[in-house]
Amino acid sequence: MIYLDSSATTPIDPEVSKAMWPYLTEEYGNPSSKYYTLAENAKKAVEEAREHVASLLSCQQNEIIFTSCATESNNFVLKGVTHYYKNQGKHIITSKIEHKSVLEACKFLESEGFEVTYLDVDQYGQVQLETLKKTIRDDTILVSIMWGNNEIGTLNNIEQLARYTKEHHPHVFFHTDATQVLGKVEVDLSKVPVDFLSLSAHKMYGPKGIGACFIRKRELGLRTKITPLLHGGSQEDGYRSGTLSVHNIVGLGKAAQIARATLKEHRSRLLELESHFVSMLKKSFPNIKFNGHPDQKIPGVINFTIPGIHNELVIRSLKDKFAISTGSACSINEPSYVLDAVGLNEMQIKNSFRISLHKYINKNEIEYFIENLRRETERLLI
Ligand code: PMP
Repeated sequence: MIYLDSSATTPIDPEVSKAMWPYLTEEYGNPSSKYYTLAENAKKAVEEAREHVASLLSCQQNEIIFTSCATESNNFVLKGVTHYYKNQGKHIITSKIEHKSVLEACKFLESEGFEVTYLDVDQYGQVQLETLKKTIRDDTILVSIMWGNNEIGTLNNIEQLARYTKEHHPHVFFHTDATQVLGKVEVDLSKVPVDFLSLSAHKMYGPKGIGACFIRKRELGLRTKITPLLHGGSQEDGYRSGTLSVHNIVGLGKAAQIARATLKEHRSRLLELESHFVSMLKKSFPNIKFNGHPDQKIPGVINFTIPGIHNELVIRSLKDKFAISTGSACSINEPSYVLDAVGLNEMQIKNSFRISLHKYINKNEIEYFIENLRRETERLLI
């Protein structure tokens, strides 16, 4: 199987699974238990992992809260902030091409009486500062804009959007979903003034079922208050109750450590593979059109349209040898709302594919895939 769907999930790095293994076997202590060594070992492992996640983001360790996934982090921030600060305003701003875990949480909040503005994006999928400026109001409490899009790979200028928001509207909280960019794009929260950030391990060669949320500390070191999603035993300082998933947290920590140490080489490897992929595609499909931003994009994510080629038919006919996608794995059976928002018509959306590369792919595999794609599309055209 040649796996070309890393935006859905990445293969796990063997170093990550190796680091996790002891915590699935002999080191099974509960980090919230007290005094005995087995519990202390678990706690130490959790705190080491927190340190790795914090250094990947250039933030402080106690600004990281572990969650079960990015979907949970997004729900936690959107619901938690709006519920806690509901007396300060009822208006939320997001974009039309956010992940479903943001859009559906917003829909839920609308049903509770909040008002949500879904910002248009430009032809490349970027939120323009002018659009945000026109939309922020006195009763806005939260802006949530993704760092990089999972379908078309387009990056937003989060530094610019967050800086504007915090400088001109300091009472408005800024959240970003960075799930798709970590390990591929530099994320330095000492320079980018977001209040909240969501991430997930399984998009950066880590395990599924573990994520984290960055919550910026306020002046005087006070932590930002937010209503928890899960109430219970007050783990994670009460922000997120539930026994910590130590093996998964260790896996996330290892993935974050590798992501930080190898950011440059990982990026350039993905860019090199991507440029080979794109030039091969252009040779094989002269009428191909690429979607998303040409350079402000996540390395390794390639979204393209081949006129006349039905994406689902091709993907199904290649399914035993290749894993590729029509778009998000989280919007099953719906035409892509992301491609719709960047101006593609229904037919173009049906003719579109998403390839997302990972570090274990090589050029021969890419060539083999493109040859098969070419053959299959010719067969289906007959
Ligand atoms: N946000 C984005 C941008 C994503 O791509 C995804 C995963 N497709 C998520 C959030 C949800 O991540 P998780 O699977 O960890 O819930």
